[in-house]
Amino acid sequence: MKKLSELRSEIDKCVRCGTCRSSCPTFKVIGRETSSARGRVTLIADYLNGGIGLSETYLKHLKECTLCGACRTNCPNGVDTVAIFAAARRDATEKQGVPFAASVIFKNLLASGGILSLGLKLATRLQGLFFKDASAGLGLLSRFSLPLVGAGRLVPPLASTPFLDLPEVKAIEGKTDKKGGTRVAFYAGCGINYLMPEVGTKSLEAIKRAGAEVFVPQGQACCGMPAYAMGDIATARSMALKNLEVFEAVDADFIVTSCATCGHGLKHLMSDLLADRPELKARAEKVAAKTRDISELLINELGFKAKGKAGSEKRIVTYHDPCHLGRAQGLREEPRELLKMGQGVVLKEMKNPCLCCGLGGGLMYNNYKLSMEIARKKAENIKNSGAEVVATACPGCMVQLRDGLHRFGVDVRVAHIVELL
Ligand code: SF4
Ligand code: SF4
Repeated sequence: MKKLSELRSEIDKCVRCGTCRSSCPTFKVIGRETSSARGRVTLIADYLNGGIGLSETYLKHLKECTLCGACRTNCPNGVDTVAIFAAARRDATEKQGVPFAASVIFKNLLASGGILSLGLKLATRLQGLFFKDASAGLGLLSRFSLPLVGAGRLVPPLASTPFLDLPEVKAIEGKTDKKGGTRVAFYAGCGINYLMPEVGTKSLEAIKRAGAEVFVPQGQACCGMPAYAMGDIATARSMALKNLEVFEAVDADFIVTSCATCGHGLKHLMSDLLADRPELKARAEKVAAKTRDISELLINELGFKAKGKAGSEKRIVTYHDPCHLGRAQGLREEPRELLKMGQGVVLKEMKNPCLCCGLGGGLMYNNYKLSMEIARKKAENIKNSGAEVVATACPGCMVQLRDGLHRFGVDVRVAHIVELL
């Protein structure tokens, strides 16, 4: 992974044309130059040239980017803005350290499944002290401001049993006999493991229905994307190494995840994080080549055809493109094709379905108010689509969409695509 000082030529590719401004979710809300990609690239260039230091203002504009990648996609000069912004965060973190709460979570919890499982068992018991039930079983509302959570947010309850600890998941750790069919190793990621195990079990069901043999290797770690977004590259790298060792040791045709962010992490981030050691990078690229999003696996590799139940009630469903699936992995058609196979699903597109939900880049804890202002636009688009369900393919987006829809009074259910099959 390149350091900021190695990206000078990338920064110089920016001709300050401003094309990126129209697609930037933070610029759409704030409307100031420094909240656009062009403004951020200019600030970083000034910083590198010694014109400004690691000031509060500089750091604020760095942290207020969702790393959604819309600017990179729309840049006529092909500037890798996301690489520049991520390297600038890394530079700042190396000089200033990781914020305390994030450091505890990344270094001690997400990096070690065992400790996290133990910590979460305790947290599951204590969550009533910090959260209260929201109406209609939507989730939990934080009672007061908590590190990385804040006050008054709708969050999903912690799973009483993490996905990786479910008996039916433990039963398929990888000990199945090879029967000659397609073998799929499932990667859960933290969102599914700790918050939405039901998305994991529905995913396993769909893979089995598609005729493949699925197993869930134990020892898998966080994909490293949250630590990467905070600029904590050392922690993200250690997670990448752990996952590399786990997944290159399994006998699988495909490694599959139902989390857009984890998929991007395994396909692209892992090899980038290990690029300082060519032999590790080559091994990571082999793992990446086998990695698929669940929609990509079911549609492109297994030719999945779900049979709708006769007489299923029709329901209008709209689809939110996660940035890490649509832009980062180029997967827009596959999730929609899968969605159309859902029971009674009638797909109705919302305006700008690939607009970021506001969660990315750690914005929901760096600047929750801005994160929710971006979510407000998303909530309006969802409401105007007339859908009763918004489907997506990323547990992180699901958390943000539920919070945003609840906050802005939009009564639309949020579901993962696999839950509608
Ligand atoms: S990042 Fe690209 S689109 Fe944005 S100002 Fe620079 S050259 Fe133009
Ligand atoms: S990554 Fe997204 S939020 Fe950040 S500058 Fe680019 S378009 Fe704006």
